[in-house]
Amino acid sequence: MATEKSLMATGSVALDTLETPFGESGDVLGGSASHFCLAASHFIPTQIVGVVGTDFPDAYRDLFDERGIDTQYLDQKEGKTFSWHGRYTGPMEEAETLEVQMNVHEDFEPPFGSPAPDPDMIFLGNIAPDFQIDVLDHLEDDPPIVAADTMRLWIETERPSLTSLLERLDLLFLNYEEALLLADTDNTLSAARRIQDMGPETVIVKKGEHGAISVHGDEIQTVPGFPLEQERDPTGAGDTFAAGVMSIVRRESEITPDVLRTGMILGTIWGSFNVEHFGPEGMISLSSDQFSERLKNYASISSINRKFIEPLEQIPFRTSPPQDK
Ligand code: AMP
Repeated sequence: MATEKSLMATGSVALDTLETPFGESGDVLGGSASHFCLAASHFIPTQIVGVVGTDFPDAYRDLFDERGIDTQYLDQKEGKTFSWHGRYTGPMEEAETLEVQMNVHEDFEPPFGSPAPDPDMIFLGNIAPDFQIDVLDHLEDDPPIVAADTMRLWIETERPSLTSLLERLDLLFLNYEEALLLADTDNTLSAARRIQDMGPETVIVKKGEHGAISVHGDEIQTVPGFPLEQERDPTGAGDTFAAGVMSIVRRESEITPDVLRTGMILGTIWGSFNVEHFGPEGMISLSSDQFSERLKNYASISSINRKFIEPLEQIPFRTSPPQDK
């Protein structure tokens, strides 16, 4: 049954410098939590947990407000906002990190106060696993559904913390290359199975333009990608995809194979808009009409059973792009 309960999400809130073959720009709104909330807020109320510095532009905070993203747990500290400088070349599958500065995130403490929040679901967006654990530890209890994303850096440098985190997860999102690295195997399915043994009952492996595969208990499902003529900037595509899945999980309050399939379709559609635009622009400018048209297109290209598409046709957009206001 659909609910209007909000979804808590944490991770980085960043000022990015992005270099792609299509352009270069600095102080772009980024970070795993920002990308996630900008996407999910199209369909569900979200609550962002993180920290920014005094250099964080008011316009970005205003954008969160306009999108109905609850910022009561978005702390502001004296200093500079987390920043990331990434470069994409060639097929733009993986960014080269030129620089990352934790800045105010270095001393991040979840700004929850008392009583501690007791959400029934949380998404732990990509950031060092110790910070993800810290947010969980500051909640009243581990929520019934805990989902997370991670990246190669933490698999290589923070394995013990990541292992502790995995034990507390219900759902883990990760890229194909990250899954193979984490599970130390060359096969996607056996990687997902080994990761299930580390904790999460559900593992979703993202394969970029080639779609995604979910393993939930014994149930395996795949969804195809949406083919695009041109990719401009994949920054945030993973968070946007996760937002699609988690929006449906939030609405249905459970993880089932059907919920996962519809969620992965939504994540794929939203992700396709993300990579077509620079930074978070795809999710900011997305209109309900553009979404409906692409959903129709995707359904016809993929011949996916309509029962997985129909729920997405019925969810009203909670947002409108700036030009429609
Ligand atoms: P992705 O979905 O992987 O493309 O995520 C993109 C966002 O991740 C960018 O906007 C960055 O600000 C953020 N990011 C990059 N490196 C890190 C890191 N080490 N920890 C947390 N966030 C990061």
